[in-house]
Amino acid sequence: MKEIIEIQREFFNSNATKSFDFRISQLKKFKKLLKYNEEAIHTAIYKDFKRSSTENYTAEIGLIYHEINNCCKNLKKWGKRQKVKTNLLNMPAKSYIIPEPLGVTLIIGAWNYPYILLFGPMIAAISAGNTAVLKPSELSLNTSSIIAKLINENFEPHFLKVIEGGIAETTELLNQKFDKIFFTGSPAVGKIVYQAAAKNLTPVTLELGGKSPAIFTEDCNLKIGVKRLIWAKFLNAGQTCIAPDYVLVHESQKENFLKLAVDELKKAQYSIENDNYVQIINRKNTQRIVDLIDSSKIYYGGNFNIETRYIEPTLMTNITFEDKVMQEEIFGPILPIISYTNLDEMIAKIKSLPKPLALYLFTNNNFIKNKILNEISFGGGAVNDAVMHFTNSNMPFGGVGNSGTGSYHGKYGFNEFSHFKSILSKPTFFEPPLKYSPYSKTKLNFIKKIFE
Ligand code: NAD
Repeated sequence: MKEIIEIQREFFNSNATKSFDFRISQLKKFKKLLKYNEEAIHTAIYKDFKRSSTENYTAEIGLIYHEINNCCKNLKKWGKRQKVKTNLLNMPAKSYIIPEPLGVTLIIGAWNYPYILLFGPMIAAISAGNTAVLKPSELSLNTSSIIAKLINENFEPHFLKVIEGGIAETTELLNQKFDKIFFTGSPAVGKIVYQAAAKNLTPVTLELGGKSPAIFTEDCNLKIGVKRLIWAKFLNAGQTCIAPDYVLVHESQKENFLKLAVDELKKAQYSIENDNYVQIINRKNTQRIVDLIDSSKIYYGGNFNIETRYIEPTLMTNITFEDKVMQEEIFGPILPIISYTNLDEMIAKIKSLPKPLALYLFTNNNFIKNKILNEISFGGGAVNDAVMHFTNSNMPFGGVGNSGTGSYHGKYGFNEFSHFKSILSKPTFFEPPLKYSPYSKTKLNFIKKIFE
């Protein structure tokens, strides 16, 4: 590992990664490689948890192509020197900001969307002119191995290198000195990464998780709202960091909500056999999720098979914040439904919990919309929709507080992997005596005028 980082640092110091042409050519090469290997990429994830090629394309591969195109088109604009105004105190002078790459970066991915969560930050790192060491999750074994094959057989290790492995390998990587660490995973491991980075004062981005609420108000369009929510929740069998974790529905809408939710679940025909649904990643996680089901509170579903790693989409009612299912991020196909009557109390409750990665609000009431968007802190989200905000690369994607720090996608990803160097450039023909000693009252009065 040490050697890889050394050769990457040497390559970075040669300035080769800094030219825009190099960055664009590498991104284009990577896109071609993905296109050429698409079938194998789909096969690997199917082996990992039976995700179909349709879902894999729409939730990962298509978005990666989009991100590459966006970066190739705009990175010259993002990376160019930006002129800014000079303040009176420094005149005459020119002021500008130079975006510069950080250097040798480490990108650690999660297993649930193993391609986009590793390649998304990698595209941002390349766009900004960095080198990268990539560590896919060991839990999605087949995708980890095809990612390693794709990168290690087609790119020089001094530019991109995949290192496979689990806790031991990640710990060893975290003992090395990087110029940037970009981590996607759980808040618990996020804390380990943050501490390791602190030893070298390495800047970090932490893309973490948490319990993301979906709120349905009294006057929402329930029919369309429930349809969108059910899709977002059970996509990838709930193994999505921004999946709606639980529902808060106004008491007056609860019964209708449940009926519509069951209708939508039936219409969607979720089954692993017909490729509309996926397995849970491993037996350990299947057992963990199953343990969150309180059989006395099942409204719909509840069947499971630990051997085949299957959990039926499950709705649970009469839930309170004290229930076991409300104590941790579910990250699986269980949807607890809590009803509320008092909006202010509900808002206060969410605010008392760790800041969520996402929040979804289903409402047609502008007053409530503005109140919730202004009062509750969360990573990002949607009004009358769920999950889809992830796909708009004109907006930063990231958490806040317990759900993460930093953000990416499009220009925001470029910025995350860059340092912005501020330069004040002065001519030499003019030098006012103001700041120099000997000081005088006249000089101070003049300075005061400039400041005040
Ligand atoms: P995880 O934290 O267990 O693992 C993430 C990565 O950290 C893996 O590559 C793993 O090898 C490594 N790792 C695990 N334990 C480690 C340790 N003790 N020391 C060093 N490295 C270690 O997370 P996961 O199970 O892969 O993913 C699920 C979590 O990730 C959920 O909380 C989910 O919300 C979150 N997530 C967040 C995003 C996002 O974009 N914000 C996306 C996907 C998943």
